[in-house]
Amino acid sequence: METLAAVARAYNQLTIETIELDPPHANEVLVRVCAAGVCHSDLHTLRGELRAQPPLVLGHEGAGIVAAVGANVTRVKPGDRVLVNWLPADGTCPACLRGQPNLCERLPSTTLVGWLTDGTSRLRTLDGVPLKHYLGAATMSQFCVIDQASAIPFPADVPFEVAALIGCAVATGVGAVVNTARVEPGSSAAVIGCGGVGLSAILGCQLAGCHPIFAVDVLESRLDFAKQLGATETLNPLQCDIPGTLKAFSRGGVDYVFDTVGSAITVTQALHGTRPGGAAIIVGMHAAKTEVPLPIGALVFQNRRLLGSFVGSLRPLVDLPRLVELYRAGRLPVDLLVTQRYALADVAQAFADMESGAVARGVIVFE
Ligand SMILES: [Zn+2]
Ligand SMILES: [Zn+2]
Repeated sequence: METLAAVARAYNQLTIETIELDPPHANEVLVRVCAAGVCHSDLHTLRGELRAQPPLVLGHEGAGIVAAVGANVTRVKPGDRVLVNWLPADGTCPACLRGQPNLCERLPSTTLVGWLTDGTSRLRTLDGVPLKHYLGAATMSQFCVIDQASAIPFPADVPFEVAALIGCAVATGVGAVVNTARVEPGSSAAVIGCGGVGLSAILGCQLAGCHPIFAVDVLESRLDFAKQLGATETLNPLQCDIPGTLKAFSRGGVDYVFDTVGSAITVTQALHGTRPGGAAIIVGMHAAKTEVPLPIGALVFQNRRLLGSFVGSLRPLVDLPRLVELYRAGRLPVDLLVTQRYALADVAQAFADMESGAVARGVIVFE
């Protein structure tokens, strides 16, 4: 079948074009996409800064309606509303069995480089160029084919745009707080970077009972969003020294600092902004190939912890339905994150707005 999609033909070469999508194979599901979130990872990939290489169809946050299923599909049926989980773990490898399906051994050679779980693709351009599925999802398209492990059903009272965000930004931000850091109620926290993941981490800090919650960003517009979502203090690194200010505010630093940027500067700020015995949690991947010098004394003598969090230490089949239920219960106001909607034709504008801080989270909506 044909589908209109956002295609990265090469680095920095974004086109909106009609492409060919093959029917789902065994264990796969065809989804009519209703909403697709616009995430920094899509832009990093378009620029060639992450593992998946073009040509590929962009998008990995998404939600829609199952249109058809291949053989052996038992998890969903046509007509089901599903959100896309871009960590389709196999459930059988040692990583999965020890409770870390975000580190499933199948992912690095398939999903993370843009293949479906069997290592192949269902996508090609009309002139026959094979296309990969970004993160096994390729949700910036009217239709996508995903592994059934990527299809998480959700109830009809949850908007598609909310479900889409739960699959990546919310899972990553809330997961960092709840799964990776396991913060105690009443802990102090700071969140560096207030894009979609950082704002989700602020929602996670609220859910977990943190106080105070410091939001850190160089863009005042993003700090405004952070306030609306529950940050109690906002700090701009262009106006103050972040570790020094956190120490002054909170007797030697905060209990938990979440770095959702992931640059050499922010990792260092996160580590030095924690109190002795506190934890810095690195969530962002803006400079994933960068190395930073570590202050051994600050780690050892002051018993600090430095933790990595890949997609919020997500256990998709446990956490994604739980996040949906927390939204439905009013405990996780994900709809506040969606501040702008775009047509698929306006993906480039959506990326520009994300970078300028004009949006909390932009979402592509389909007719
Ligand atoms: Zn994402
Ligand atoms: Zn596995």
